[in-house]
Amino acid sequence: MQKIISYVCDHCGYEYETEEEAIVCEQNHKLELRVFEAIHTPIGEAADGYPRRVILTGEDGKHVWYTRDK
Ligand SMILES: [Zn+2]
Repeated sequence: MQKIISYVCDHCGYEYETEEEAIVCEQNHKLELRVFEAIHTPIGEAADGYPRRVILTGEDGKHVWYTRDK
């Protein structure tokens, strides 16, 4: 019988064969995020009041757009 050991990234759940790969994945995730701008739409398009799109910014200052699916 063979024992299989794997390592899972704490942030995305991806499974790796080596601890080193899992650490690289964990360290790559941008965790310190803040909303730079929220783009809202009329109540008819988003009755719950949450924005349609947001721009997040990370520690490195990069801005990334996100759009909600529903
Ligand atoms: Zn990961």
